[in-house]
Amino acid sequence: MIVHKFGGTSLATVDRLKSVAEIISNNAKSNRIAVVLSAMGNTTDTLIDIINTAILSQDWQSKLDKLENHHKKTLIDLNCACRIDAQKQLNTINYLFQEAHAKLKGVSLLQQCPDNIYSWLITLGEQLVVSIMYTQLISKGISVEIINARESIVTSDDAFAGDVNIKQTKSNLKSYNNNKASILLMAGFTSSDKKGRATTLGRNGSDYSAALLAISLNAEVCQIWTDVDGVFNANPKDIKSAYLVPQLSYYEAMELSYFGASVLHPKTITPLMQANIPCVIRNTFNLDSNGTTISHQSTHDDNFATAISSLQNISMVTVSGPGMKGMVGMAARVFETMASNNISIVLITQSSSEFSISFCIDTQHKQMAKNSLKQAFSLELENQLIEPIKFKDNLAIITLISDNMKKRRGTAAQFFQSLAIANVNIVAIAQGSNERSISAVIEADRVKRGLSSCHQLFFNSIQQVEIILVGCGLVGDAFLNQIQKQQAYLAKQNIKIKVCGIVNSKGALLQEDGIDIKSYKHLLKTELQEINKQILKQFRKQSNMINPIIVDCTSSQSVAEAYVDFFQACYHIVAANKKANTLSMDYFRKLKRLAIQCNRQFNYETNVGAGLPVIDTFRNLLRAGDKLLKFEGILSGSMSYIFGKLDDGTPLSEAVIKAKNKGFTEPDPRDDLSGMDIARKVLIIAREAGFALELSDVKIDSLLTDELINCESVEAFMNQLPNLDESIHELNQQAQSESCVLRYIGSVSEHECSVKIVKVPAKSALYSVKDGENAISFYSQYYNPIPMVLRGYGAGADVTAAGIFSDVMKILPSKSSFV
Ligand code: ADP
Ligand code: ASP
Ligand code: MG
Repeated sequence: MIVHKFGGTSLATVDRLKSVAEIISNNAKSNRIAVVLSAMGNTTDTLIDIINTAILSQDWQSKLDKLENHHKKTLIDLNCACRIDAQKQLNTINYLFQEAHAKLKGVSLLQQCPDNIYSWLITLGEQLVVSIMYTQLISKGISVEIINARESIVTSDDAFAGDVNIKQTKSNLKSYNNNKASILLMAGFTSSDKKGRATTLGRNGSDYSAALLAISLNAEVCQIWTDVDGVFNANPKDIKSAYLVPQLSYYEAMELSYFGASVLHPKTITPLMQANIPCVIRNTFNLDSNGTTISHQSTHDDNFATAISSLQNISMVTVSGPGMKGMVGMAARVFETMASNNISIVLITQSSSEFSISFCIDTQHKQMAKNSLKQAFSLELENQLIEPIKFKDNLAIITLISDNMKKRRGTAAQFFQSLAIANVNIVAIAQGSNERSISAVIEADRVKRGLSSCHQLFFNSIQQVEIILVGCGLVGDAFLNQIQKQQAYLAKQNIKIKVCGIVNSKGALLQEDGIDIKSYKHLLKTELQEINKQILKQFRKQSNMINPIIVDCTSSQSVAEAYVDFFQACYHIVAANKKANTLSMDYFRKLKRLAIQCNRQFNYETNVGAGLPVIDTFRNLLRAGDKLLKFEGILSGSMSYIFGKLDDGTPLSEAVIKAKNKGFTEPDPRDDLSGMDIARKVLIIAREAGFALELSDVKIDSLLTDELINCESVEAFMNQLPNLDESIHELNQQAQSESCVLRYIGSVSEHECSVKIVKVPAKSALYSVKDGENAISFYSQYYNPIPMVLRGYGAGADVTAAGIFSDVMKILPSKSSFV
């Protein structure tokens, strides 16, 4: 004997009913089978709505008529060959709706619905679908016997508790074993109390009906047919990359369903486990999949974890107060109060000081919990032995489940780390003493993000970061090109960079699912939405990005001033923009502090020396105990080029024109010649070295006179520039007479930070640096008198973009401890 149960989604339409009838008849060829059906589609929800409408004395009749017509039409559309039986079942449907009508009329008059009437009404869908399926199967020439679930499955008196009298139920259902029909057909969800009044097995209870039938008929297997291939390692509706778990242990399945995996009703597994009957979950819409088998055997997978699940609509109750400490039986009284009001407790945590007990319940029971606890502890509350009982709503529980947990160290740490990465605050935690599950209570609006992060870290070999690019000029564009070019290479290393936002001064393109980089320029022309920091904060809040990074490729001060908001919204920041690090020292410190507080990374390697690893190298030296004595460098590609040209006697103005034509300078070359850009780099190095300096502390030897600075246009400036040639030529000649060259150098020491023209002797590392090259020398306690020198191309969009790329890569969560 094999028991098959079909869920509502498998029975929602005429076509689906036909495929289910096909599956049933095919299975009946090789085995005796029993079939349990739940109501078509969302009939149960509709019935609940009709009852609520009747309680409000509103128009329930038209809703009921609609439901009646839908069911009758379904039976007719199935066009069953056996007309006499179809007519018989149509009469049954008529009769059931007459009954429902009479009951609802009473409900509407009374403006309330007694428990047993409620149970009868919400199980109507199951009775209707049994009639429909019966006709269909009979039409196929198969003998069918209907099991009266109402009379057979016996629960406690409480209509909602769904506590089954297993012994009685088994003995009632056993009698059907002797039946000669090929197929037994039973309505799911349906039961009655010992006085015969209608009850239910609770929402989603048809799975449990099937399990009860399976143990009563000594079935070999209990097969649950649904709309997914089986049990996934996370709800596939929440996590697109969730995958099928072919094998689960009974215990794992129990934890999983208890903690929210709606694919299985939580009570289903216990009776099957006790009777050692495997439960197989299969997809009505994909017969090729073998589904998931739940038995004593857990998955063979060597994974840390088997699955994650989530429970929504959770409230946390906290009972606390000085009177709790050491008072024997407090916890018992709290839980007894819940039990006697039939309130199920999902999770419990107690502070070790015994000062407080917190537990989670379904929010729908909150009011009842509040009233009953107030009553039970009225004396303690009055005497202030306990504090007013606290309720925290809008919570959810994320649970990680695996039989393997016992064998592995670090599962909990990784679980909490995954939540921290996604910036999910943990309200409470609990680990089952069976070491099969770890749960975290979190805010409800963070569930999807928490699940995604946890899934990514535990199950997904692919690590992902999401990019919001702010500023898509030369560098931004080069960065996007590099991402596009590298995707395939990174995919081989299981890394994915998803560009979710591109922002320019005109607006933003924001798409959580990712922007097609190839067509971004076109999209920016057509799909731009208004942008401000509020919109970026909102985007972060509403989306489920796990590792979103703002990549700032602007040189805008207002963007730099928004970093505080970006950190608070939990973006990581990768900045090519030097402004943030060169605003006030207070702001610099604030950003560093915030990044740590918000558990975010702030990477700005390209601020000094473009793609050269200047800042990382310098930090590593300091971490190793080294101390900076002096730093000096040629820190600007354009100035490197211009001063290099002076070596062979080229006049300054001509060198600037050449640099400009090669695209080495900013559009207005005064931005380079003013020395301000280099001063910012100098300040950043100085601050990294621990000097608390402001930009105004950097002495700048600008090449520009006031007259040149004030020129109205770039053209006017370029025309006036030859005025400088003479003085620079003299300086240059003087340098050459001393066997030196002129270089524009930024330097940092304990005594001074400066940007100035320096005569550099041949033995200096900076002597031969020209043609746009950057060079940086660190003189330190370890590197003295020979400095550590970093040299290389220090300008240009591609090297800067590559530096940004490497800053982005540093943000990928580490999986090293998994290996
Ligand atoms: P039925 O109507 O067949 O009883 P349900 O809606 O009750 O179907 O259960 C199937 C649904 O359970 C799936 O569509 C899926 O969204 C959800 N679900 C939740 N967690 C899981 C999981 N871990 N694996 C598979 N499905 C899950
Ligand atoms: N039809 C019922 C419900 O929707 C029972 C079930 O589907 O298992 O809860
Ligand atoms: Mg279900």
